[in-house]
Amino acid sequence: MKVLLHDCCAPCGAQVVKELRDEGHEVTVYFYNPNIFPKDEYNLRLAEMKRYCAKTKTPLIVGKYEHDEWSENVRGYEKEPEGGKRCEKCFQKRLAEVAQKSKEENFEAFATTLTISPHKNAEVINSIGHELADFYGLKFIDTVWRKNEGYKKSCQISSEEGFHRQNYCGCEFSIRG
Ligand code: SF4
Repeated sequence: MKVLLHDCCAPCGAQVVKELRDEGHEVTVYFYNPNIFPKDEYNLRLAEMKRYCAKTKTPLIVGKYEHDEWSENVRGYEKEPEGGKRCEKCFQKRLAEVAQKSKEENFEAFATTLTISPHKNAEVINSIGHELADFYGLKFIDTVWRKNEGYKKSCQISSEEGFHRQNYCGCEFSIRG
């Protein structure tokens, strides 16, 4: 299938791009992460994914960095713990954009790298993905990428490629002090 893959960063994206390609899909990466703060960190994560996509000849679409809009979307949930309501709203915002883009650009399916992280609630992410897919008449690939040693493999690729590895999820509220 022609798949638009939402990617959060190169360490997660490299393994998922490989898996989808191994399954025979035609993959385009969509880097849409207005949650990432500060902008320098956003630029760093994007540069790493650009480097990987160029190396593997994977088409890459770069979304807008609309952090103010993202912040407005999570207003009132700043103090939520990681994994709580703020994260749900964050997944919703990013996946809604990816689903819409998939529809506009005639992709058959979309997916996200987010479920490769052991810290993220795959059930919540997949339920949002399916809801959006139903709304737009698309397919959502709901593989939980961390399974079958997916997370371990992503760490291996990451060290082979020498990727920048962040020590916090992305937004200012997830920076460990
Ligand atoms: S902790 Fe991560 S998933 Fe949760 S709101 Fe922040 S950037 Fe989004």
